[in-house]
Amino acid sequence: MRTATHHTDLPRIDLRGFTSPVHVLPRLSDELGVEVWCKRDDLGSVGLAGNKVRKLETELAHARALGATHLVTEGSRHSNATRAAAAAAASIGMKCTLVLCHDEPKEPVGNLLLDALFGADLRLVGDTSWGELARLTGDVVRELEAAGERVHRLPIGSATGRGAASFARAYIEADEQMEAQGASFRTIVHASSAGSTHAGLVLGRALRGRSARVIGVVVAGEVYDDVSGTYLRLANEAAGLVAPTVRLAASDIELTEAYLGEGYGQPAPGVTEAIDLMARLEGIVVDPVYTAKAVAAIIDMARRGTIEGPVLFWHTGGYHALFDPSLTATVWDGLPRLRDIRL
Ligand SMILES: *Cc1c(COP(=O)(O)O)cnc(C)c1O
Repeated sequence: MRTATHHTDLPRIDLRGFTSPVHVLPRLSDELGVEVWCKRDDLGSVGLAGNKVRKLETELAHARALGATHLVTEGSRHSNATRAAAAAAASIGMKCTLVLCHDEPKEPVGNLLLDALFGADLRLVGDTSWGELARLTGDVVRELEAAGERVHRLPIGSATGRGAASFARAYIEADEQMEAQGASFRTIVHASSAGSTHAGLVLGRALRGRSARVIGVVVAGEVYDDVSGTYLRLANEAAGLVAPTVRLAASDIELTEAYLGEGYGQPAPGVTEAIDLMARLEGIVVDPVYTAKAVAAIIDMARRGTIEGPVLFWHTGGYHALFDPSLTATVWDGLPRLRDIRL
C-alpha cells in the first residue's frame, strides 16, 4: 500500500485504490428540476468502502507511525465505522478489537457479519448507553495494554480531527473533479452523525476559498450534548493539523434535523421515496439509516425551491443497512410497487 502526502494533507495509507468518481445524476436532475451530481464515496477497494474508510486512511497512517499494533474502536453492531475499521486493519495486518453494543433481537446483521469476517476480535457488551460503551472500551484498552499491545483507539464513528482532515482533502478533490468536467457545485448535501465528515468538508471549503453551502443532514439525534460545538471543534482540530492559520467559526457549520424523523435508524418522511427514486432513475442504492435521509432532504428542498444547484450529493456509503432484515421489510412494505409483488 502507498503512503502519499499532499500540500494540505496528512500522511495517509491508500485504502480505496482509486479516486471515487463524481458524476451527474441526469434522470434525478430532470425529475427535480435541479442539477444533482453524486460523489461516489460508496465505492472503494477495502471493506465495502464508505466515508469511514477515508477517515481511516489518515488515522491508520498515524497509528502506524506511533508503532501501534492494535486498533480498538466501539459502536453498535450495525456500525459502518467498526466494519470499516476491521477491514482496514485486516488490509494492513494490524490487530483489531471491536466493542459492540447489541440491542435485541440477537441476530447477526450485515455489518456484524463483516466485522467477524474481517477477523476482528468482537466484544459484545449487550444493550448499553454510549457513555457506558466508552467506559467498557477503556477497560478493554487497559487489558490489551497490560498484555503488551500498543493500542490505537478511535472514538465512536472515527470522529477525530485527523479523520476530518481527510475530508478537507476530499472537498478539494471533488471540486477539482467537477471543474475538470466544466461544472461547479453550489451546495453539498451529506448525511451526518458523529461529525468529522461535515467538519472536514467545511474546512475544505475554507481552504479552497469557496462559498458553496455545505448542509449536514442529521441522521442521529443527541450524539453530543453540543452537536454544532463538537463539529466546530473537530473542524478546528483538523485545521490545526493541515492549515494552522485557518480558524472556522460557528457560522461555518450548517446542520438540519428536519429529515431525522423518529431518530437513528428509524423511519422519516421521504426516505422510502428517496430510495425509490435513486434506484429507479439512477440505479444507485441509498440506505434508510443514512444516505436516504440526505437524498430526502435534496428532494424536499428542490421541490420547495430552497436549494441552489448544482447540488452535490455526497454518497457516504452504508447500503448494507438495506439488507438488515427489519429494514428490508420496511422498505418493501413502504413501496407500493414492491408491496404488490406476490412472493
Ligand atoms: C458514519 C456515516 C455517516 C456520517 O458521518 P460522520 O462523519 O460520522 O458524521 C454518513 N453516512 C454513512 C453511510 C455513515 O456510515
